Amino acid sequence: MYIAMVSAECAPIAKAGGLGDFVQGLARELSLRGHQVEVFLPKYDCLRFDRISDMAKVHRDLLVPYYDQWVSCDVEYGEVDGLKCYFIDEHARESFFRRGKIYGEPDDSHRFAFFCRAVLEFMLKSGQHPDVIHCHDWQTGLVPVLLYEVYQGLGLTQPRACYTLHNMGHQGVVGESVLHQVGLNPARLMIMERLLDPADHRAANLMKGGIVFSNFVTTVSPRYAWEIEYTEQGMGLQGLLQHYDGKFGGVLNGIDYSVWNPEFDSHLPAPYGPATLPQKALNKQALRQRLGLEDAVKPIIAVVSRLDRQKGVELIRRAIYFALESGCQFVLLGSAPEPAVNDRFWGIKRELESSPDAHLELGYDEELSHLIYGGADMILIPSVYEPCGLTQMIAMKYGMVPIVRRVGGLADTVFDANYSDKPFEERNGYLFDELTESAMEAAMAR
Ligand code: ADP
Repeated sequence: MYIAMVSAECAPIAKAGGLGDFVQGLARELSLRGHQVEVFLPKYDCLRFDRISDMAKVHRDLLVPYYDQWVSCDVEYGEVDGLKCYFIDEHARESFFRRGKIYGEPDDSHRFAFFCRAVLEFMLKSGQHPDVIHCHDWQTGLVPVLLYEVYQGLGLTQPRACYTLHNMGHQGVVGESVLHQVGLNPARLMIMERLLDPADHRAANLMKGGIVFSNFVTTVSPRYAWEIEYTEQGMGLQGLLQHYDGKFGGVLNGIDYSVWNPEFDSHLPAPYGPATLPQKALNKQALRQRLGLEDAVKPIIAVVSRLDRQKGVELIRRAIYFALESGCQFVLLGSAPEPAVNDRFWGIKRELESSPDAHLELGYDEELSHLIYGGADMILIPSVYEPCGLTQMIAMKYGMVPIVRRVGGLADTVFDANYSDKPFEERNGYLFDELTESAMEAAMAR
């Protein structure tokens, strides 16, 4: 099959979280299985250009409709570890993709809506007709809508749309002007059966558009599929998912062991695997040295996470002190998009500056994340909700023990050492249910 992935992220060149790992891993796996796979991304100025080979312009002056005018784009092609990638390089006055970051701009909805229209315009003009267009999250929710409302009529009749929900916490609830921008008809679409947001009747919901117009909708774990269809975790779209139950399912995420593998991870000073596990101690030593922790006979508990409220930031804060009180060391690598949360963690970092047992690294650091997986003993993931979660899977591949809340994909991948109906050899971590300090502390204590 010819499969086009349209996404806001793809590791290692444009990654903000698990979506980047997902697109990279799935695209590579599908290619290995013999499919023709291409990834479509915005040409952000913050792409890791050093990881892209043979970048070249393949289409000049693509005119993409924008309100009642056009914006000219070039399309570039390059390969990332053998993966075929196309990049939309726009020349808009607003410089949509020259912002030094992937997300977090006030006009994100306009930036990604433009991207959706540009990708389809390119497919039409270049005669590339994939069998499946696979889109992800709200940023590309307009692709299925535009495909069926506009581009099928223009001749793009081959593709079917698959849409994956990675996080219901971000649905792209936007003003009607976004529809005007991409040439869609609000009068047709701003109704409950199509894009109208269930809570805000003046707004369009781009994720809803993706669900309604796609041929199949997936999410990243079976448990999260159930949670978002039948509980508040659907965040307003549970009724819609029930309506479309026949074209909706959960598929458990995985990680790419050619990227995440301690046996040949170039970021680790001492590679190791199941047969050479004691080598992990050398990485632990290197991690301590790098972060200024004391070389003591203590386990290291780690958190590697976006410090978003979804990730249980209040519990993470408490866990730092509980770990120290319990004779452990604690390492946190996290970036907080919300200034209040960021300030809070900077406060803790300053308070623990002189501690020989704790280090907080506030920011995004891919290389350090590998060293933490390689050197730490346990990973803590006390999420409020977790569509799948990749960090527990990465951690387990690196011989760490996960301590997690029993939600979403965490419940599908971590099985409690003491309380599980799984056979002993399949139990791999510690779980807790309640979103409370005492429940988390009990699991950590075990
Ligand atoms: P989410 O997609 O919700 O952020 P996942 O667990 O699915 O969570 O994926 C997180 C990915 O992002 C993992 O690869 C993890 O190592 C990485 N990551 C998260 N925070 C950081 C950070 N501050 N620095 C480096 N990598 C990070």
